[in-house]
Amino acid sequence: MYVKSQVFFVLGISKSGFAAAKYILGNGGECYIYEELKSPKIDRAIDELTGMGAMRVSKESEDEAIDASDVLVISPGVPINHGIAIKFKEAGKRIVGEAEFGFSQFFPPTIAVTGTNGKTTTVTLIDGIFREAGQKCVAVGNIGVPVCEKLSEIERDTVCVAEISSFQLESMSDFKPHIACITNISPDHLERHYTMGNYIYLKRRLLKNLKESEYAVLNYDDATVKSFAEGLKAETVWVSVREKVSGAYFSEGRLYFDDEPITTLGETAIRGEHNVYNALFAVAAAKIMGINNESIVSALKNFKGVPHRVELVAEKRGVRYFDDSKATNTASAITAIHSMTSPTILILGGSEKGEKYEELFEAIKLSEVKHTVITGTSRFNMFEAAGKCGVSAVTVTGDFRSAVKIADMFAEEGDAVLLSPACASFDSFGSFEERGETFVKLVEECRN
Ligand code: ADP
Repeated sequence: MYVKSQVFFVLGISKSGFAAAKYILGNGGECYIYEELKSPKIDRAIDELTGMGAMRVSKESEDEAIDASDVLVISPGVPINHGIAIKFKEAGKRIVGEAEFGFSQFFPPTIAVTGTNGKTTTVTLIDGIFREAGQKCVAVGNIGVPVCEKLSEIERDTVCVAEISSFQLESMSDFKPHIACITNISPDHLERHYTMGNYIYLKRRLLKNLKESEYAVLNYDDATVKSFAEGLKAETVWVSVREKVSGAYFSEGRLYFDDEPITTLGETAIRGEHNVYNALFAVAAAKIMGINNESIVSALKNFKGVPHRVELVAEKRGVRYFDDSKATNTASAITAIHSMTSPTILILGGSEKGEKYEELFEAIKLSEVKHTVITGTSRFNMFEAAGKCGVSAVTVTGDFRSAVKIADMFAEEGDAVLLSPACASFDSFGSFEERGETFVKLVEECRN
């Protein structure tokens, strides 16, 4: 897509849409912009873009602007069945997501990571390894940095590591990474994708355009992801913590790649089985790209973790407080619960994503969790699931502040308090980051 010879229509002016429109306008292109939401931040973004020549579209001028446009660039926050997207489709015009549009503007090798959980951690690990090896690298995508925002920094010898969400995959058709990693698949975002079948179909889309010269790094231990290898043209590189596969695996405390020992786990800063998976994906991507073992080991040693992912945020009177606000689905909360090594007070709940909670409470029964505090709009369904599973050490409260206070009341010396909500944050917060930061502030107020 050449920005100077086509007229663009950017739908949704949040972070990604804003970056796309800014790139188009800054490179001499014409661009219509459309946004339904109102906030001071969005108003500022619209002012900046119109100042650069963007044409603001209203409900009344929508049809005219669609007629005058060649390509619709859709932000990941906007579902693909939005009325404007449907009109573009009916008119036979091209529809691309912000990420696909961004990737169409450059050709450096891209390592793309998708999956239900572990994407950000894996991207952060790969980025850390490349930086350690002195390789120019940008981490973009769902990690919070739109591709379009980084286009001016990307040179021919830059490696791009991209976190790709199912929302972004909805509007991708031509994207072809050099290495595609799929970490795992479990129910998530069913409020948007409706069925598991549709969600799995979207995740598999990352592999669709891979040719013989490309690589698919797949989780051997996840039956759904494993099945994606069937019929692939690209070379499959496996990741496993259970078996000695062809690819990256974990055995007797060591990380291997194709039977070559890379490092012992103890030598690294990687903690928890889920992070061993993430590290193995990073090792596989790095080895495929020819990175030396010293750089890999050094990056794994210096890994600081990612904020809001089972992050130890405070220790008071012998109680450790963990912020896992990014656990926005049941699978990630189950992972966090299993990684706890001391009696734990768990804080659950937030806005729902169409998931059921029985599996979560079955996991709680077999874990270190001694009491669960349930909050958020999910509290009714969660409480019902707790009852069905026979988990009775439960307190329900409508308010996040009191949830933290109650959890703290139950915590005794040697215990842990874990915020791992298994839900999105949008019932009470603007983002999972804001929820995590609020948790940290409330923990500061807890007794010393
Ligand atoms: P994503 O970007 O896919 O949301 P993150 O790396 O941000 O994943 O981790 C989010 C949460 O998911 C973490 O807090 C942790 O509880 C859980 N998690 C991380 N890695 C994995 C994994 N490989 N498998 C299962 N759960 C994981």
